[in-house]
Amino acid sequence: TPPASGRAIKTTCAYCGVGCGIKATVTGEREVAIAGDTEHPANRGKLCSKGTHLGETVGLEGRLLYPEITGRRASWDKAIRQVARTFAETIERHGPDSVAFYVSGQLLTEDYYVANKLMKGFIGSANIDTNSRLCMSSAVAGYTRAFGEDVVPATYEDIDEADLVVLVGSNTAWCHPVVYQRIMAARLLRGTQVVVIDPRRTETCEEADLHLQLRPGTDVALMNGLLAYCRDAGVLDEAFLAEHVATPDSFWSALGEGNDLWSTARTCDIAPVDLKRFFELFAATPRTVTLFSQGINQSIRGTDQVNAIVNVHLATGRIGKPGAAPFSITGQPNAMGGREVGGLASTLAAHRDFAPENVAEVKRFWAAPRVADKPGLKAVDLFRSIREGRVKALWVMATNPAVSLPDAAQVREALALCPFVVVSDCMADTDTSRFADVKLPAVGWGEKDGTVTNSERLISRQRALMAAPGEARPDWWIVTQVARAMGWRDAFGYENAADIYREHARLSAYRNEGRRKFDIGFHAAITNREYEAMEPVSWGGAPFSEGRFSTPDGKARLVAVEQRVLDERLPKWPLTLNTGRYRDQWHTMTRTGLSPRLSQHRREPLVEIHFRDAEEQGIGDGDLVRVATPQGESVFRAALSEGQRQGEIFTPIHWTDRQSSGGRTGLLPRPLVDPHSGQPGFKSTPARIEKL
Ligand code: SF4
Repeated sequence: TPPASGRAIKTTCAYCGVGCGIKATVTGEREVAIAGDTEHPANRGKLCSKGTHLGETVGLEGRLLYPEITGRRASWDKAIRQVARTFAETIERHGPDSVAFYVSGQLLTEDYYVANKLMKGFIGSANIDTNSRLCMSSAVAGYTRAFGEDVVPATYEDIDEADLVVLVGSNTAWCHPVVYQRIMAARLLRGTQVVVIDPRRTETCEEADLHLQLRPGTDVALMNGLLAYCRDAGVLDEAFLAEHVATPDSFWSALGEGNDLWSTARTCDIAPVDLKRFFELFAATPRTVTLFSQGINQSIRGTDQVNAIVNVHLATGRIGKPGAAPFSITGQPNAMGGREVGGLASTLAAHRDFAPENVAEVKRFWAAPRVADKPGLKAVDLFRSIREGRVKALWVMATNPAVSLPDAAQVREALALCPFVVVSDCMADTDTSRFADVKLPAVGWGEKDGTVTNSERLISRQRALMAAPGEARPDWWIVTQVARAMGWRDAFGYENAADIYREHARLSAYRNEGRRKFDIGFHAAITNREYEAMEPVSWGGAPFSEGRFSTPDGKARLVAVEQRVLDERLPKWPLTLNTGRYRDQWHTMTRTGLSPRLSQHRREPLVEIHFRDAEEQGIGDGDLVRVATPQGESVFRAALSEGQRQGEIFTPIHWTDRQSSGGRTGLLPRPLVDPHSGQPGFKSTPARIEKL
């Protein structure tokens, strides 16, 4: 039941992984006043421009309000039967791995839970992957290699208590603005120093004490150089290493060659004096948080880059103590909730992998007929399998892969070739839903009701502010109806989101007995009333304070990682393309694009280029140019920038066919992925540019 108009409702922002609490007041017919929630621990009342203007995005413009089958309005009953029947027939004829779900960090945890349960427990395939694969799956793989489990080793309070914050591959000021404000507050209160490591000079560098504008793709060399420096300076925590860390025999000898300060400076193309200053600062500052984001994760070496960072923290004992940790900050509002339920193709459920005992345990808990016993197809491979005809029925929930996946042209080809495509979304016309056989209307922010988990693993409620428009329904309800229609009525007998959350909490704790670091068994019997009133609650604050990790021997792992040889620049592709976000837009702009004020910040997609590169090509500021890569090409307006390194260009990810024919970054990156995580490398694509 939506709340009465005029009463402030506590909910959570729709956008990034900071997970800010909001007090929202319905002031009229689809009108909402937004204020920061001063009692929410993630933001303490602060909001960035995107959160502040959420009220401008709750109108019905462009909404999908009724189910559609092949473009014609249909009843829910007919649409659900069509989806259930086609999936069942496909599974019957071609087996469980012939179908797939591609879901989203925009889903609430309850939506994610039932989608994962249907695919992995009842259909019996692990072919459910999520757009979080593009966001932080390298952090998951790196944490798992080092800690034995996907555990977040920090909270935002560590930022408050740090004397040094190192921001690696993160334009925090734009992409996680409220965390950036928290860093700036720590700077004011305790003099916290800030170092930015990024090939671009971004807005985040403006207040930094030091910016290392490294050559793209050399983060492993930089972190290995730092580790070698710490060893030579005698600042390794030998007692912590001996007691709490397993070190491969060859680890330190492998670090010997080529990691001295001069070699590192040369590899990373950083002035030795700046590198030395950073190394000295790090070595002298036990309370250091290294916060990293897409510049580290979205790389074909992402997992190694994560482990290179974690290695330094483990070896210097800067983990499990206040103000000391490596910290991957997630991009999406509920990427973490997806990780918790197991919504990645590479995990089973509730922090379990596919070990036979876990498969048996989950099968028993769900009373499931056939639980998947091996990982499924990760995002890029999933769409390749569709193109090759191996996956024949696909359900896309709350995401737009036709724009956001690398090599978007091939993704579109896959969608066009797929015999059956279902899209559930709150928007009527997305680049992906144009390929849908069945469109199912989902509720959006302000109508959804459930939980999300932010980057520091704090669970918050997202609450409905208004009634669902037309015939839109919650994602969990839609999945549940299809599951029931496929014959699994009892297993999907939920009546509300609280029913699902309780089951999720019970599964997280089921036979845990300390095998996994945390569970939320404390919510296993939460009542509907308690769920409705739930305040933000953490999965567990300081996971490694006792120095015990989730490996069989309880020790963390140093993982030997080497700087790989960088791609040579070829004459045909003399530039390297990097991609990222603008401050006031979110993903493919389906929501933020509705806000006139947010659209004022950047009105069109620009390609940022160093002025010398521009000069060589005869390109002036504001000229229209064609950016081409081995994968595709698109037209942008040039913006000359001294913030770019020479030889590198930058474009924003947000624009799609619906907004303009140009500025289509999604057409440009290659579909290359990290071998451990499957995360695509968006940050370094060979490119060239020419004036139109
Ligand atoms: Fe929303 Fe992120 Fe901005 Fe907070 S920082 S208001 S969660 S977009």
